[in-house]
Amino acid sequence: MTATPSCVVIIGAGLAGAKTAEHLRAIGFDGTITLVGREEHRPYERPPLSKANLIEGSVPDKDLFVHEPSWYAEHDVDLRLGCTVEEVDLRSHTLSTTSTEGRRTFAFDALVLATGSSPRRLDVPGADLTGIHHLRTLDDSRRLRAALTGHPRVVLVGGGWIGLEVAAAAATLGASVTVLEAGGMPLGSVLGERLASVLVAAHRSHRVQLRTRVDVVGFTATSDGRVAAVRLGDGTTVPADVVVVGVGARPNVELARAMRLAVDDGVLTDEFLRTSHPRVLAVGDIAHAWHPVFGRRIRVEHWANALNQPRTAAATIVGKWTAYDRLPYFYSDQYDLGLKYTGHVARRDITELVVRGDERSGTFMAFWLREGRVAAGMCVNVWDQMDSIQALIRSRAEVSAARLGDPSTPLGEVVTEPRQARIALS
Ligand SMILES: Cc1cc2nc3c(=O)[nH]c(=O)nc-3n(C[C@H](O)[C@H](O)[C@H](O)COP(=O)(O)OP(=O)(O)OC[C@H]3O[C@@H](n4cnc5c(N)ncnc54)[C@H](O)[C@@H]3O)c2cc1C
Repeated sequence: MTATPSCVVIIGAGLAGAKTAEHLRAIGFDGTITLVGREEHRPYERPPLSKANLIEGSVPDKDLFVHEPSWYAEHDVDLRLGCTVEEVDLRSHTLSTTSTEGRRTFAFDALVLATGSSPRRLDVPGADLTGIHHLRTLDDSRRLRAALTGHPRVVLVGGGWIGLEVAAAAATLGASVTVLEAGGMPLGSVLGERLASVLVAAHRSHRVQLRTRVDVVGFTATSDGRVAAVRLGDGTTVPADVVVVGVGARPNVELARAMRLAVDDGVLTDEFLRTSHPRVLAVGDIAHAWHPVFGRRIRVEHWANALNQPRTAAATIVGKWTAYDRLPYFYSDQYDLGLKYTGHVARRDITELVVRGDERSGTFMAFWLREGRVAAGMCVNVWDQMDSIQALIRSRAEVSAARLGDPSTPLGEVVTEPRQARIALS
């Protein structure tokens, strides 16, 4: 961005889009801001969709929506809902939208892509039958909540975070629940078997059935076109009234590709969230952003990333350069387990797992080490240690696994390179 623009358009009215508008105003940007969103709802947060909204049936507005309805007018943000950006012309700096009101054109000096992700779909016979759900939007969540009443047989295809959260909600509501997982254990590839088994035990204690190493090859239907069962590769079927497909998400990069931006697994950006075009930035789920701490690009599909990256994007737009270097952070709630995870590491790079406390107690911490240094950490029902874990990760200091695993040793005293750690932690 060379000169401060006077006209910013943000594509995608999710958390990242709304926060970009908020930070632009907070930083003193006084040009026009247009926030364009395909959904009819004003920007909201998605984590409650697989948790409280399913269990309670609704979420108080203050826990769901990013801003009050009046906030947009009060901050002179032109919020265009039910409006899809179809095309961007980078030569004329205009984009065109469609909505029920027809086609419109908007001009911009700076463009922020905050188009988020969409659920992956199964390409098998019967995948579009009534009763098969995906969960991304508030409307999806409301439809699924309605389907969960009356103790149905619920089958989750995919034992990832969303699949397991929906399983927990459905089991809490008294449904008969089966989780189908392609791997050896739900979340096994994320947490490793030892810790994934903590979650598996929690689900089993709530009578959730678990089938692993299964291959979903299709769905059978009732005579009126509703899903009746999930067909597996071994020839067996699992009866179902409700199916939720939770097999991951893919970034919405179609517009970026059409604009010929550099895209691979997401829109490539630098640490200031600038894409390969000087007028265009990307934030949230779609940003495959250079991360100074890891020395490579990472793409993070987590709430905290969509919450925090916009501050950097807003600063970049007004020429106040601050690299985005927050560590990835994720949380999940299932039954009475509250998990918080931080770090970014490939399982194959992990050389040691250290557990602090007894994982069977449901209250513990875990650390994944790479060559003696903390690469990621997780707290389960432990609430105030995230900052200390992040300081350890950032310090890159070697730690004593014995001290790390000892709950009586403060996390500030686990490093074996005190000099380097003092510098890095200060
Ligand atoms: C059910 C669920 C539960 C989750 N739970 C957790 C959790 O517990 N913890 C956690 O850390 N993360 C969680 N996440 C992930 C987190 O919600 C996402 O990382 C976050 O929503 C990303 O925000 P975003 O603004 O980048 O994208 P999104 O929230 O996907 O918003 C993008 C918006 O852009 C719109 N859009 C796309 N293309 C266009 C276009 N061409 N024109 C106009 N609008 C467009 C989309 O319709 C969408 O509304 C959860 C996600 C889901 C779906």
